[in-house]
Amino acid sequence: MNAPLPKEATESAANMYERVSQNFNEVAGKLASRLSSETQGEVLFGAADRGRYATDASIYQVKPVGVFVPRSAQEVPIAMAICRDLGVPIVPRGGGTSQCGQTTGAGLVIDHTKYIRNVLEVDPVKRTVEVEPGIVLDQLNASLKKHGLWFPVDVSTSAQATLGGMAGNNSCGSRSIAYGNMVHNVLGAKAWLSDGTPIQMGSFDQSTGRAKAIGEFVQKLALQLKPELEAHWPKVLRRVAGYNLDIFHNQNEKPYTGDGSVNLAHLLVGSEGTLAMTQSLTLQLSELPRAKVLGVVNFPSFYQAMDAAQHIVKLGQGRLTAVELVDRTMIDLSLQNPAFAPTIRTALIGQPEAVLLVEFAGADKASLLPDMRQLVELMGDLGLPNSVVEMVDEAPQKNLWEVRKAGLNIMMSLKGDGKPVSFIEDCAVPLAHLAEYTDELTQVFKRHGTKGTWYAHASVGTLHVRPILDMRRDGAKRMRRIAEEASALVRKYKGAYSGEHGDGLCRGEWIEWQFGPQITQAFASIKQHLDPLNLLSPQRIVNPPKMDDTSIMRFGNQYQVIPIQTALDWQLWNVQNDPVTEQTTEPGTGGDPAQGFAKAVEMCNNNGTCRKFDAGTMCPSYRVTRDEQHLTRGRANTLRLALSGQLGQDALSGEEVQQAMDLCVGCKGCKRDCPTGVDMARMKIETTHQYKSKHGFTLKDRLISHLPRYAHLAALFSSLLNLRNSLPWLAQVAEKFTGLSAKRSWPTWHSDHFFNAETQGVTRAHVLQAAKPVVMFVDTFNGYFESENAFAAMRVLKAAGYSVHVASKEGLRNETGSRHLCCGRTYLANGMVDMAREQARELVNALLPFAEKKIAIVGLEPSCLLTLRDEALVLGLGDAAQVVSQQAMLLEEFLARENQNKQLEGLKEKLNAAKHPILLHGHCHQKAFGVMSPVMEVIGLIPNAKPELIESSCCGMAGSFGYETSHLDVSMQMAELSLLPAVRAKEDAIVVADGTSCRHQIKDGASRDAIHVAQLLSQHLM
Ligand SMILES: Cc1cc2nc3c(=O)[nH]c(=O)nc-3n(C[C@H](O)[C@H](O)[C@H](O)COP(=O)(O)OP(=O)(O)OC[C@H]3O[C@@H](n4cnc5c(N)ncnc54)[C@H](O)[C@@H]3O)c2cc1C
Ligand code: SF4
Ligand code: SF4
Repeated sequence: MNAPLPKEATESAANMYERVSQNFNEVAGKLASRLSSETQGEVLFGAADRGRYATDASIYQVKPVGVFVPRSAQEVPIAMAICRDLGVPIVPRGGGTSQCGQTTGAGLVIDHTKYIRNVLEVDPVKRTVEVEPGIVLDQLNASLKKHGLWFPVDVSTSAQATLGGMAGNNSCGSRSIAYGNMVHNVLGAKAWLSDGTPIQMGSFDQSTGRAKAIGEFVQKLALQLKPELEAHWPKVLRRVAGYNLDIFHNQNEKPYTGDGSVNLAHLLVGSEGTLAMTQSLTLQLSELPRAKVLGVVNFPSFYQAMDAAQHIVKLGQGRLTAVELVDRTMIDLSLQNPAFAPTIRTALIGQPEAVLLVEFAGADKASLLPDMRQLVELMGDLGLPNSVVEMVDEAPQKNLWEVRKAGLNIMMSLKGDGKPVSFIEDCAVPLAHLAEYTDELTQVFKRHGTKGTWYAHASVGTLHVRPILDMRRDGAKRMRRIAEEASALVRKYKGAYSGEHGDGLCRGEWIEWQFGPQITQAFASIKQHLDPLNLLSPQRIVNPPKMDDTSIMRFGNQYQVIPIQTALDWQLWNVQNDPVTEQTTEPGTGGDPAQGFAKAVEMCNNNGTCRKFDAGTMCPSYRVTRDEQHLTRGRANTLRLALSGQLGQDALSGEEVQQAMDLCVGCKGCKRDCPTGVDMARMKIETTHQYKSKHGFTLKDRLISHLPRYAHLAALFSSLLNLRNSLPWLAQVAEKFTGLSAKRSWPTWHSDHFFNAETQGVTRAHVLQAAKPVVMFVDTFNGYFESENAFAAMRVLKAAGYSVHVASKEGLRNETGSRHLCCGRTYLANGMVDMAREQARELVNALLPFAEKKIAIVGLEPSCLLTLRDEALVLGLGDAAQVVSQQAMLLEEFLARENQNKQLEGLKEKLNAAKHPILLHGHCHQKAFGVMSPVMEVIGLIPNAKPELIESSCCGMAGSFGYETSHLDVSMQMAELSLLPAVRAKEDAIVVADGTSCRHQIKDGASRDAIHVAQLLSQHLM
């Protein structure tokens, strides 16, 4: 067996971290105080902050002594000097998406992502750019688009990975076959050594001073070790382990420089923050491909797909940009998902066991068509005629790439303690052996009682695969055994053990196994030469820990969950799974002392997708603050730490959790956008309940929560209550008592409203017998404050020929004096779960008779109606809630469904043509439930209407959030991210927004009256 050679390490990683943190406790105060007084940066030394930075997308957890977020690049050497004085190690950090534990370490974590993210200089002619390390790849590429350029190392984490982190890990993208790895695309680096010396690394020939001396030192080592390099260095494109000693004696399939010269910046690439702290990087840019075509090759067996890769890569003469694998499991997962099934079907011929996505890119489509033809011919020659689906248009290509990404996400969302673990997911083998390698590794998984799903970069022999392991039980042991057997295969096929994700804590010990003792010693000499103080990320690459050291794991030996009583039902997460079949046990059987809540929280694997800024909703509070604390990941980590006792006693109802949840607007963006479905909005309800149950409810909590109960009475005093909006001093007084900002207008009360109006549709008996029945659930907001929406909806439904019944409480009036029903949302938002349950039960019971008859229950306010499909199901309301949820839909969902069933022909004839452009803003909960397309479809019923969807995250109002003085600024910043600028940019457009809060925010921020889609339709009725 090819186990790693014995280490010379003098102490175990656990001891080392323990010792460092003990010493740190003595100096932590000094460190924090000096950082605070000598810089303007953010100094985060609280237990929760340290815990949030103790993990990355790996299985490891090591608490740093503190975190520093410098405000400018100039503050980094100051912090380094302080660390040097105090003997505190430094862990540089970008997005923290490393999979091997590169950014988890004892010491001071320096987070570059918040402020040190400028583009310093672009030279479109030379096609170069100089950037600061904290800039995110997608954001860099967005800024380069106007020049027709991009930085082509397109890592899957492009929306959150920073250039500093990418350089640190020598990252590689899906298109590395065309563009190479990070090392092939970095031209220069400015950096600080740990002794404070600034260095400029670039062309060795032109280097001077310290850089030159470093170059000469490394050159000498490389020349001495030439035979070793030739014997032990993997000869594949994807080798990222160790230091790039081969800059002086190239071993890579693709030389690092075009002219064979030596660039010293390449020594820092892949050094994982252990040699120097990057100040800026100069990057080689590429021309943006103007055209792409995609051939999807269908294979009857996985083996054939792997075998064909070596032949496919010879096509295209430089225009081949990707060969990506999607295996049968991924295909099945996609077919099971209604959103993706139609797309994946367009790529399939019969029932393939695997498909390869083969992409060619170039100046125009016409020049790529011969490449596609050659692919088809090649497959014929390989005995697979008619196996290629040719995708020439952009849209189907884009959709298919999305499906590939989503398939992985579904795989990652496996519930239970067994999780797909990344530790051999990027071994690279020469293509000629890919088929045998994957076949044999699959057998290894089988022998160890698990399985892996294969995907990704077939073009370069780096297929991703993650066996399912339970790291709380025997996962570490099994990981080691699988790693050892996998390493034997990698050696047999002369591959690279670390082909994409770097070394970190997970693979450092395999460096000596891969390169032999002499090269390993050379790495130690390089480290010693550049960082003699051993200040920068110690125990990475040189003297690393054992990969299976459970004392540095997130779910290590000590991990435990504190028993709690939850307010919501989390038992769906309280399961275990079978690593081979992936079947989960019955809800409630997972053994979680926190009744499933801890397991729901632990679904966060720290992959960092919530740091993205592009499409989707997640995560508005991070988008405006750029704080780890105000990020879905930061919140999930805080909750995990609290639930496992790592933040002290009763931490779940403590201030640190409360602070982390404070800016969560409950938008449910994460519920949809997070790859593992972390539902922080629901967690916020639970934690608010836990906190408020202990600390009590404020006047504001009560005012907001009980609104549905007293609204009918308040409406009687509308003139008096509305004075608050016209008398500034009254608004000030109200702010003082309620904490609701005087700068906000409050919704206007009306004495005449929907609930006391005369005509309210047909009776209950009538609707139960009607030919075209529909039941409306009118919420508090559309009933009392914006009755016109409820009236408009009735008008539209009646015009379409429906018998409309408005659901109400049984009998004349109940004890609250009102007959209107409420979903309990206002109570949920304030953590009054018991009251919410009462309200929701009443609503569910009232709606059940209609739902049982499969009569549609239609609502207007997304957050209210969708409560029936979400929180109402975890309030312990039994089967009735399930039955009702299946019939509950938004007005637009109902109309879109009926239109597809050809039931709206009459309505369509009654609609006037649109005269204005129409802008549509989606409520977060509409987006979370994927119901924006029905709104677009329904608006499209209006002749000439061409609705334009605003690409926006949360509007920032989010119920009462934006009204609160403490949240006003953040709320407006969220709105200014994209919503308000988009509204202002189209002055003549009608703005449609179905959420009452969204309309309010648009009014306050852009002085425009947005309307509900019901109003839009009603206004266009003849
Ligand atoms: C789901 C998923 C998919 C992934 N897909 C890919 C992929 O397709 N290709 C790929 O290559 N990787 C991939 N990765 C791994 C990871 O996303 C990449 O390595 C990424 O480039 C890391 O960027 P980051 O900003 O998160 O860096 P971090 O994880 O924060 O840091 C990476 C390294 O850089 C060092 N570093 C950061 N800033 C500096 C600085 N200023 N000076 C010196 N050192 C610094 C850190 O110390 C660390 O060693 C994936 C990870 C996940 C979770
Ligand atoms: S919350 Fe979701 S998206 Fe964010 S890091 Fe965790 S798993 Fe990833
Ligand atoms: S609910 Fe919204 S604000 Fe809260 S963590 Fe999720 S995406 Fe962020």
